[in-house]
Amino acid sequence: MIADEKALVLFSGGQDSATCLAWALEKFSAVETVGFDYGQRHRIELECRSELLARIVEINPTWKERLGADHTLDLSVLGQISETGLTRDAEIALREDGLPNTFVPGRNLLFFTLAAALAFRRKARHMIGGMCETDYSGYPDCRDDTLKALQVTLNLGMGSRSVIHTPLMWIDKAGTWALAQDLGGDLLLDLITEHSHTCYLGERTVRHEWGYGCGTCPACELRARGYESFREGTRS
Ligand code: ZN
Repeated sequence: MIADEKALVLFSGGQDSATCLAWALEKFSAVETVGFDYGQRHRIELECRSELLARIVEINPTWKERLGADHTLDLSVLGQISETGLTRDAEIALREDGLPNTFVPGRNLLFFTLAAALAFRRKARHMIGGMCETDYSGYPDCRDDTLKALQVTLNLGMGSRSVIHTPLMWIDKAGTWALAQDLGGDLLLDLITEHSHTCYLGERTVRHEWGYGCGTCPACELRARGYESFREGTRS
């Protein structure tokens, strides 16, 4: 544990950020959360946030002591300037450059810049995000180098010594499920399965073994495949 230091978790209500929240609650003596409303099609994930926050502290009394304020920031301007599969009612497809059209340019850069400004005010030295470049879709702002460079830029620009942590960077989705189990056992696994949201289309009517979703969008496929290989690993 990093004693007596506060962390701010970028918490969207998805599987990855829910796992990162548990990771932060295990490591830091005080933890706050921030979510962004940018006009995402899967805005339902914002509703999942409060459910997850209310329930995750029931898993571990220490986590309950450590979890502090939740912040949500209106970032609708990002939705207004983006023409993407996440912010418009368009079919999810590959773009000409090979990136999926679910890539929202500038998203993580803006998220961390605003989170850093908030963290500055809340005196939180650490920021945690669920970005991963292991089995990701190729989003350039999820790369380790991007976030390391951003950390340097933010510290220079704010005169601070903040640290960006990305505990999922080098593990795949099966590893993310396994990390959740390590951190909070079956209670956390069940919580994430039932209450975290991943599906790009915002679908929450069909319940699969791995949770709710359309089952066919790239986010659902990744989550389902990861869950399957995690379960295979725990069975063998
Ligand atoms: Zn889906």
